[in-house]
Amino acid sequence: MAVEDEFYDPTGLETSATGLSTARPDDERYAALAADLREQVAGEVQFDEYAQVLYATDGSIYQARPAGVVLPRGIADVQATVEIASSYDLPILPRGTGSSLAGQTVGNGCVVIDFTKYMDDIVAVDTDARRATVQPGVVQDHLDERLARDGLQFAPDPASSNRATIGGGIGNNSTGAHSVRYGITDAYTEELQVVLADGSLIHTREVVLGSDEHDAIVAKDDAEARIYQTVRELVETHEDEIEARFPDLKRSVSGYNLQKVIYENDAGEEVINLSKLFVGSEGTLGVIVEATVSLVTKPDETALALYCFDDLVDAMEAVPEALEFPVSAVELMDDEVFRLARESEGYAEYAEPIPDGTTAALMLEWDNELVDDFGAAVADTNAHFVESGTAFDVLEAYSEADQDQLWKLRKAAIPLLMSLEGDPKPYPFIEDATVPPEELAEYVGKFENVLDTHDTSAAYFAHAGVGTLHIRPILNLKADEGIEKMHSIADDVTDLVVEHHGAFSGEHGDGMARTEFNPKMYGEDIWGAFKQLKTAFDPEWLLNPGNVVYREKASDPGPESDRGVGADMRDHLRYGPEYQSIEPQSELDFDDEGGFSHLVELCNGCGTCRQTDSDVMCPTYRASKEEIQTTRGRANMLRAAISGELGEDEIHSERFQREVLDLCVGCKGCKSDCPTGVDMAKLKAEVKHQYHEENGASLRSRLFGNIDALSALGSRLAPLSNLASSVPGSRRLLERVFGIAPERELPTFRSESFEEWFDRRGGATVSADEADAKVLLFPDTYTNYTYPDAGKAAVDVLEAANVHVRVCDDLEPSGRAAFSTGLLDEATSRARHNVETLRPLVDDGWHVAFIEPSDAVMFQDEYRDLLDGPDVETVAAAAYGVMEYLDLTRADDRLDVDAPAELLTYHGHCNQKATNKDHHAVGVLRRSGYEVDPLDSGCCGMAGSFGYEAEHYDISQAIGRILFRQVEESDGAVVTVPGASCRSQLGDRPGESQPPHPIEKVAEALEE
Ligand SMILES: Cc1cc2nc3c(=O)[nH]c(=O)nc-3n(C[C@H](O)[C@H](O)[C@H](O)COP(=O)(O)OP(=O)(O)OC[C@H]3O[C@@H](n4cnc5c(N)ncnc54)[C@H](O)[C@@H]3O)c2cc1C
Ligand code: SF4
Ligand code: SF4
Repeated sequence: MAVEDEFYDPTGLETSATGLSTARPDDERYAALAADLREQVAGEVQFDEYAQVLYATDGSIYQARPAGVVLPRGIADVQATVEIASSYDLPILPRGTGSSLAGQTVGNGCVVIDFTKYMDDIVAVDTDARRATVQPGVVQDHLDERLARDGLQFAPDPASSNRATIGGGIGNNSTGAHSVRYGITDAYTEELQVVLADGSLIHTREVVLGSDEHDAIVAKDDAEARIYQTVRELVETHEDEIEARFPDLKRSVSGYNLQKVIYENDAGEEVINLSKLFVGSEGTLGVIVEATVSLVTKPDETALALYCFDDLVDAMEAVPEALEFPVSAVELMDDEVFRLARESEGYAEYAEPIPDGTTAALMLEWDNELVDDFGAAVADTNAHFVESGTAFDVLEAYSEADQDQLWKLRKAAIPLLMSLEGDPKPYPFIEDATVPPEELAEYVGKFENVLDTHDTSAAYFAHAGVGTLHIRPILNLKADEGIEKMHSIADDVTDLVVEHHGAFSGEHGDGMARTEFNPKMYGEDIWGAFKQLKTAFDPEWLLNPGNVVYREKASDPGPESDRGVGADMRDHLRYGPEYQSIEPQSELDFDDEGGFSHLVELCNGCGTCRQTDSDVMCPTYRASKEEIQTTRGRANMLRAAISGELGEDEIHSERFQREVLDLCVGCKGCKSDCPTGVDMAKLKAEVKHQYHEENGASLRSRLFGNIDALSALGSRLAPLSNLASSVPGSRRLLERVFGIAPERELPTFRSESFEEWFDRRGGATVSADEADAKVLLFPDTYTNYTYPDAGKAAVDVLEAANVHVRVCDDLEPSGRAAFSTGLLDEATSRARHNVETLRPLVDDGWHVAFIEPSDAVMFQDEYRDLLDGPDVETVAAAAYGVMEYLDLTRADDRLDVDAPAELLTYHGHCNQKATNKDHHAVGVLRRSGYEVDPLDSGCCGMAGSFGYEAEHYDISQAIGRILFRQVEESDGAVVTVPGASCRSQLGDRPGESQPPHPIEKVAEALEE
């Protein structure tokens, strides 16, 4: 690598090809630093190896291990951190969610300042002035949610807005699909509070040049004065070059915003506003601790039209014409995106409406702020594109649902591409190059030649209206050849971009991927100005060195060290030729995922598992706001373990189990919600299994893994068994011996089990001969011994639908509890018995229905990981949740129902949400006559045995409280919940009883 020898390594340690320290960090120095920080900082200070691994990656292809992390509680914490880190001569790296794609949120030996946990408040919203003041860690969607109450929004809308912070958006100068209409973050960043490299705090805002205010600032003898003077001097000295070199684009986020820092304000005065310079500076000029941003009116309505072309270049050529219309977005997708979507289970439905022969599509959006009549606006563009024959078809979307479909297809591009099997992957490194829209078609033609020359391909999707093409060439970065190809493609593409008057980055910033090329884009003069600017703000080059700007040699202006020297996009790669991972011998079948290690490596760091508003993933992060409690955190730790970054056998250490795996509640949310399908519940089960193999399972794991046997005993001894827990001291004993939380209500056993009840009533009342169908009801542990009412209701409903019902009495428990605790031998043996028993019955026309969702999903999904062969597939295909069975077979059409006029609040089971089976209950309840409010809820926090475990009680409650709030906010008169664990969690609320299973509500609706 060209400048590897010169590259600054702040730890003073050798680095491997993957960018990680090959020796363990300088523990003593870091320990002293951490101790100093702990004395001065009210927030959290994490300098252990786990913290270093967790913050060594972001959403990019890069990896570099920091010294540690500070989670500040306020401005004073940030000032203290900057001062102390610089006294140890260590670099400083501010960070939001770390969803950046160019490597600007990782750095060797840096002290990371993570704002997301404590500095995430909305300080003030001034609706009259249309401004909001926020702390940097606030997530953009949270801000927008608050602003929507006043009909306002923060205009830049990155696709990552459900977890990306305002601080990170300012750091990167972020923007999104609506930049055609609104531009980018620098236009909305008005004032900032910034901690400078010397720890001082400045307030940036519009300052009229030559005013008393300005003169007072520059007359001081401090960092602020020096910065104002240098910036003005640089802008004035380089005026002509700035005019010539900065591209005339709606989006250009490469380099520093020298072209925007001095301007004429609304009153016609010449002002300097350093805020504009901090935007897009990627944490290299100062640490933002508060931001005041301007806001726009949120449109009430929008409409979309998708124009279908049979040629990609024709679609590109149509972009400038599309911009002649009053549109708010112009987006592009190509046939590779459609093909991948059609082949994917999760996205096929979105690609269905796309007409055959569509090689590329342009999607245009209008909003009610721009046009009064959507029909007329679309008719105008139809006349232009379709009637003239440029596009061969159009799909119009006016309803929210139809528009949502098309946006989902557009946003599916990255996840679809990233989940490609094998090592070659579509990596981001030239993924946001931007050229003027009128040059797009020609640029794309030449771009294709670059890809051909390098013998690779790519899918095309784009914010076409602003000339930003999201292209990710498919490369294998675990091989030297792939890495060299990446560099060569980047070199060629940056040449092309310069030729077409564009910007290397129009969206995601410079980072480690593009900083190397900035001299090519800006030329010697501006490049020199950038370096002077950096030195004025940060004389020791301590702030995120190596990003946006670098020094060619140590004797260049800057510190008397080699900090900030050199930049090579091939350094610090997460993978590299030396990267190796151990593929463990696994009990579960990982063939579909390409192996255990491939499933771990599928995590690309996008940060979607840090979103907190919808979807199931990830409840433990939602409750804790800890990186280690995200799916990404767990995947990063697993990757560090299997690739040797962590010590040998760390993966089987007690600490790894406790801190990395044990808090994963196994909700499977990530399996469906993670864009690349990192299935942490499965990975956890495998690693826990290996841990048990090596260390033996704890008494409690065995107890919960065999909860069925204990429940059977409890039922036999009821009511005596129920009294046991009220014997003084018994709960403390349970806590001491088994680690069971004393705060938890223990289940109440019924003396007559569900199976016994069914036998006592004489079995089925609808004979097999007369019935329309035959269903085996699975007597799960909860239904059988503690809550037979749900089973009885299921029998009543199925028989009312003329189904012949049998309660299987020769099956074993599903093995769900054993699986969740990693007792895979036990789970496998149960799965084998059940599949062998059921296969002949299924062949004989029986379906198998489950009252407990987690058991249904166990048969449908996990059994296929535990067993091979056609039997398991056949049984899995015949297994249904009971509500799913009614819905899919439409057996409920045969019911005579008349539900009371009642609004039900429905909380679905996370395992069913993860397998897309959660909507069935809602359909059946509605057809039974109920109104239903389905909650957008995740895991309840109970997760089988998890909520009973003493050390997990608090987090279980914290997760539960999120659900409790959602339930309280719903207008439903009754909550209905299929999962037994969720019913216990909700029933444990003071003064509340366990909610009914939805099948009980259907039974209630049956006409007498
Ligand atoms: C799937 C995916 C889609 C994306 N789509 C878009 C898109 O549509 N548009 C877009 O613009 N980007 C997009 N991004 C990139 C990224 O998500 C955005 O740039 C986002 O705004 C970054 O926010 P963050 O909180 O993750 O910031 P981080 O990644 O944590 O930080 C970003 C930069 O800001 C700096 N920074 C953070 N906080 C501060 C602070 N307090 N003071 C000073 N500097 C700070 C950091 O040092 C870093 O250089 C996407 C990323 C992914 C993975
Ligand atoms: S686990 Fe999935 S959602 Fe989370 S960062 Fe990794 S890829 Fe993104
Ligand atoms: S299974 Fe659930 S708790 Fe575990 S990582 Fe995935 S989403 Fe988070």
